[in-house]
Amino acid sequence: MIIDGKKFAQELRNEIKKEIESIKKTRNTTPGLTVILVGNHTPSEIYVRNKELSAKEVGITSEVIRFESSITQEKLIEVIHGLNKDKKVHGILVQLPLPPHINGSKIIEEIDPKKDVDGFHPVNVGNLSSGKDSLVPCTPLGSYLLIKNVQKNLTGLEALIIGRSNLNGKPMAQLLLKEDCTVTIGHSKTKNLKELCQKADIVVAAVGRANLVKGDWVKEGAIVIDVGINREEDKTEKKGYKIVGDVEFDSVVKKARAITPVPGGVGPMTIACLLNNTLKAFKNIN
Ligand code: NAP
Repeated sequence: MIIDGKKFAQELRNEIKKEIESIKKTRNTTPGLTVILVGNHTPSEIYVRNKELSAKEVGITSEVIRFESSITQEKLIEVIHGLNKDKKVHGILVQLPLPPHINGSKIIEEIDPKKDVDGFHPVNVGNLSSGKDSLVPCTPLGSYLLIKNVQKNLTGLEALIIGRSNLNGKPMAQLLLKEDCTVTIGHSKTKNLKELCQKADIVVAAVGRANLVKGDWVKEGAIVIDVGINREEDKTEKKGYKIVGDVEFDSVVKKARAITPVPGGVGPMTIACLLNNTLKAFKNIN
């Protein structure tokens, strides 16, 4: 089974849209999302534009506040404090990376945890690791929903997460732990990654290394989620490259019970989960 992330994300967006329409009718209000963009980082510009368009599509009132890269940390914090108090704003997202003179962790800590739709605030990180309800980072949340769509009951399954970033690997591990999986986290210093992978019922690769996970790494019938986004030179493509994941699709697809393609797997779920988190933040606040 090739997991159709695009289709699943569209279904999630349809549900969110329906719920927002009903909120609008009954309470005459809509969830609001504010994205802060600092500087002229081209990929960030594209991500923010996609987030803004997707939010509007489901009926979320969205606003992008742009600043020159010369903005001071103090000014940025002042803006965040204003948004924390603003009753029309339910989700605040600061697009990363920030310029080097701004401390990204400090900025995230200034966001009201109830409005932290990226799920990066220490309160949300702590709540997730304590098994409490929290806003969860969008990419691992999307990966988790795709896994649950393949198999509802994950109790006792062996899960290997490759990658231990705060953005992906660690929250993913917490989500699967909460589902009673036996979770192993691999990283660049792990010695027996291939053997660990061969035992796993669920493999989530969030590494950033093209085609790291090969067919002979994967147990027959495993669920394989490929978070990686890597450029690989390809002269047949107009741009001179193509996007590939951390999993060697052609060999792993023959072994896996279910696998996400790249592109079209986890990627579309990330934005859908941001919309989901904004709606959740709205419901928690109101
Ligand atoms: P990151 O912060 O660079 O973390 C990468 C992790 O992979 C680290 O824990 C690193 O180990 C580990 N690693 C590196 N090389 C390894 C190797 N050869 N074997 C085993 N582990 C290795 O990356 P990230 O932000 O989590 O992103 C991971 C990938 O997901 C990237 O390709 C990124 O573009 C993609 N991504 C996709 C989406 C989406 O929407 N689909 C969203 C975000 C990110 P150490 O900790 O030991 O260094």
